[in-house]
Amino acid sequence: MTNRISRREMLALAGASLVSGPLVAQQVGQQSKNRPTDAADLIVLNARVVTVDPRQPRAQAFAIKNGRFLAVGSTADIRNMIRTGAPTWDAKGAAIVPGFIDTHNHAPGTTLLYEVLVGNPFEVEFVTIDSIIEKLRVRAGQTPPGTWVEGYFFDDTKVKDGRQLLIRDLDQVSKDHPVAVHHRGGHTSFYNSKAFEMADVNRQTPNPAGGTFDRDSAGALNGRVTDNAKNIFSRVGKRQTQTAENSGFDSPPVGLDREVAGLTHISKMFARYGVTSVHHQGGSLPAIQKVRTNGDLKHRISYEASGKVLDAMIAAGIQSGFGDEWIRFGATSEHLIDGSFSERTMALSVAYAGTNYKGNIATTQDDLNAWVEKVHRAGIQINCHANGDVAIGMYLTAFERAQKLFPGADARPKITHCTLIDDDLVRRMKGLDAVPALFTTYAYYNSDKFGFYGEDLMKRCMAFRTLLDAGIRAAAGSDFSPGPFDPRMAIQGMVTRTGWDGKTWGSNQKISLDEAIRVNTLNGAYNSHEENVKGSITAGKLADYVVLAEDLYSIPVDKIKDVKIIRTVVGGKTVYEG
Ligand SMILES: [Zn+2]
Repeated sequence: MTNRISRREMLALAGASLVSGPLVAQQVGQQSKNRPTDAADLIVLNARVVTVDPRQPRAQAFAIKNGRFLAVGSTADIRNMIRTGAPTWDAKGAAIVPGFIDTHNHAPGTTLLYEVLVGNPFEVEFVTIDSIIEKLRVRAGQTPPGTWVEGYFFDDTKVKDGRQLLIRDLDQVSKDHPVAVHHRGGHTSFYNSKAFEMADVNRQTPNPAGGTFDRDSAGALNGRVTDNAKNIFSRVGKRQTQTAENSGFDSPPVGLDREVAGLTHISKMFARYGVTSVHHQGGSLPAIQKVRTNGDLKHRISYEASGKVLDAMIAAGIQSGFGDEWIRFGATSEHLIDGSFSERTMALSVAYAGTNYKGNIATTQDDLNAWVEKVHRAGIQINCHANGDVAIGMYLTAFERAQKLFPGADARPKITHCTLIDDDLVRRMKGLDAVPALFTTYAYYNSDKFGFYGEDLMKRCMAFRTLLDAGIRAAAGSDFSPGPFDPRMAIQGMVTRTGWDGKTWGSNQKISLDEAIRVNTLNGAYNSHEENVKGSITAGKLADYVVLAEDLYSIPVDKIKDVKIIRTVVGGKTVYEG
């Protein structure tokens, strides 16, 4: 009986103020031209609307009622059908697109607010190793010895020094504190000597399965630790703060205030960037509810559970889709199969150039089969992190097996990242109606890393063109922290495949602007079975949209990332004005 849930857990779930069942579906997809015309709460006229609705791809105007689009059409249509009296906004030619949907985000609000940031979370910015040491020294000065001093948002290819961060650099921060610098990709960290000493790792320690303690040419530890090998460090030393997963679920809600502040902060950031729906990788459910109660939730959450929350869902019979249009249980959070694309630890069928290293695999096929079967049987949408072709293959094998044993309609196995594909994987994905959540801003932000893979592999990486051509609804999954989540940067990269450094990789995978907008909106809705309520500007759907200062179609493609966001609207309510 591993799935028993405690009274506290039941109360936590019951307290979610959520309702189950289908959302209002009868209005959806119908033009409401014959509705009572005095009903609108807001009318928007004279806009250039990209609807992402194939039946009416462009429009000029719409009316909103009760947080949903009531009607969409030409300015004349909407003006004629609405009696005077309803508030009207003349958009004066501004461009409007559906609210952006990010299907993979760690929403690290507390990190942004409270931790030492040694890199820029949102933009391409180069830093010096000295600046990293200096920031961590300040934190060490405020931290008792033996307690961790940690830096976040490090990016190994955004360092002015042009070399790897080393154990000796971090020894300059402190000899009395364990020090870690975490790569923003989340799969590699860099430690000082004290941390290795506390973890009892030395040059003789063998690498564990699925991870490495990297060494220099003389065999000494160089400070870099990858994937599973990092686990040992989480078991030693004191940490000043609780993690989101610990707070308020099966233990007293320690750190709830921080979680609430962090979520409030990042919700504001999402609104500022036009992101109206986000798939959260776990996080504190009590904090999410509190932020909503406070009136500070500016984006819609598809909550992706793992660990105790997922076990409790299974025990209680809660399935994907439980909730309402603001907070809803979606797929599981990413179940890890392999390593990282940006940090070059993903599992490849060929060795990394100049090595015999083929990346890290975090699980066995048998364990993966068992996990997928358990969750699939419970009626919860599966979501696995699979970057390399080997990992994607393992996932499809596990899902094909589970689906054969327990056939379920419309299961849409979610593949987080799904970075390196080949024809056979695409065929199998199509057969399962798999829903991949690909990196979005990487084409622009991480072009400095693609040389590690080379053009031949990059032709098959982040393969939006191939996937869309196969009829697979590839969606946008920024993976923030690892990638910035700005949808404008994402769209520019998808359309150009050109990075900040001017280099273009895998240009065969370019997609059109129409397609890139759909990837960032409607395909995101499909990813969580919500295409009937969001993702396009369609009568009956939730009134989530973004007003842009310029029409994306009339500016140079390399300026898309700079277009000003004037307004973000969720459920007919303005949540950001710039
Ligand atoms: Zn992730």
